Amino acid sequence: MSRVDAVVVGAGPAGAAAAITLARAGRDVVMVDKARFPRDKICGDGLTTGALRLLEGLGLDPASVPSWQAVEDVVVRGPAGHQVSFPLPQGRGTYAAVARRTELDAALVDRARAAGVTVREGHGCTGAAEHADRVVVDVEGPDGPGAIEAPYAVAADGMWSPVRKHLGLATPGYRGEWHAFRQYFTSVGPRAADLVVWFEPDLLPGYAWSFPLPDGRANVGFGIQRGGKVARIQDMAGIWRELLDRPHIREVLGDDATPESPHRAWPIPARIDEAVLTGRRTLFVGDAAAATDPLTGEGIGQALLTGILAAEAVLGGPGPGTVTATYRRRARSALVADHRMSMLLIRAVRHRKGVRAGMRLAGATGWTRRNFARWLFEDYPRALVATPRRWHRGMFTGDGAYTTERADGRSGT
Ligand SMILES: Cc1cc2nc3c(=O)[nH]c(=O)nc-3n(C[C@H](O)[C@H](O)[C@H](O)COP(=O)(O)OP(=O)(O)OC[C@H]3O[C@@H](n4cnc5c(N)ncnc54)[C@H](O)[C@@H]3O)c2cc1C
Repeated sequence: MSRVDAVVVGAGPAGAAAAITLARAGRDVVMVDKARFPRDKICGDGLTTGALRLLEGLGLDPASVPSWQAVEDVVVRGPAGHQVSFPLPQGRGTYAAVARRTELDAALVDRARAAGVTVREGHGCTGAAEHADRVVVDVEGPDGPGAIEAPYAVAADGMWSPVRKHLGLATPGYRGEWHAFRQYFTSVGPRAADLVVWFEPDLLPGYAWSFPLPDGRANVGFGIQRGGKVARIQDMAGIWRELLDRPHIREVLGDDATPESPHRAWPIPARIDEAVLTGRRTLFVGDAAAATDPLTGEGIGQALLTGILAAEAVLGGPGPGTVTATYRRRARSALVADHRMSMLLIRAVRHRKGVRAGMRLAGATGWTRRNFARWLFEDYPRALVATPRRWHRGMFTGDGAYTTERADGRSGT
């Protein structure tokens, strides 16, 4: 049995963010993951401004991620075929980017190692138990079975969170709010250099996407709501074939576009407002806390944020009651208002008319176009206008992330 200050289960963005934050504060941290890195994670690979700012704060260098692609323009096509281009600000840092999760997550694990975290790859969590004075996580891997005990555990083990199950905190039958499908393509046409979102009438409130990657590649996929009017989750492969044949999608991907890898699907959990966020000494973060945005399915920024908040709560102490209560309060305060705003907007985009009205409003002027793109990419919180406690000077004029020359003369990374 090894004993440390904190054990983190899962080394995706949520786990890495928690582990880095704890290790930077001098804590002895072990992070275990059943996978070996680099490993794939089914994802659109899109990074919002919010995610980018947090990655920058964690010390991630975009140069360490070969597939890093900054995005300048977002193109949205409505259900009736109306298309609007939404530009992101130029020359003030990065507001949106795409980066293959295989590389992004491996780079974050490297950051964690550099910060002093002991990373045990290929070690799966096989059990977890909370006691009055500690939590014990059982792991199994190439080093054989063993146990790690610590005052606190951070469960960053994704949608199916084995830790949640071991602690008896899982909801039976829960399979996420969304189901999404992704495939990489090579040799895409020049129009796939933009980040494109298609609101297809038969997918609403879901959507299809093409997110640009370097070297003529793209991450292409679609997501649909579980239990929504598209009750065809069983036939996502069929929907996929059909989507790729649609002329406007073919036109963006180009005639030479070639699938690079098999298509893969994965659920998206989006119910931070209801999720049990802590055990007695365990803090759930990222997908294990169902923290994704229910409108867009984006969860990398939320994973990083909840990981950091959990680590800060642990660092703040003094005991498990305060640590868990602090984390629950701060995670809800950071995310629940935005979650509710997204849920309201989902109602609007469930119907063609709602999407059309929204696109008309968003595309009305240069100002609305610029600000819609920034709002969509979480440059400022989704529900900012409804939460005065988060208002501050300059909230609509902030720089993006990775600004090399800031207005105040300080350099970025
Ligand atoms: C198709 C699709 C498209 C998406 N597109 C986007 C997008 O464009 N942008 C965006 O921001 N978000 C997107 N998301 C959501 C995003 O992928 C997740 O919200 C994000 O990965 C959550 O990060 P995480 O660290 O919580 O979990 P994960 O990234 O899932 O990491 C969990 C880790 O836990 C490990 N693990 C699991 N079980 C065990 C075990 N027993 N023992 C040890 N380790 C274990 C896994 O190996 C994994 O490494 C998308 C999701 C899907 C499905």
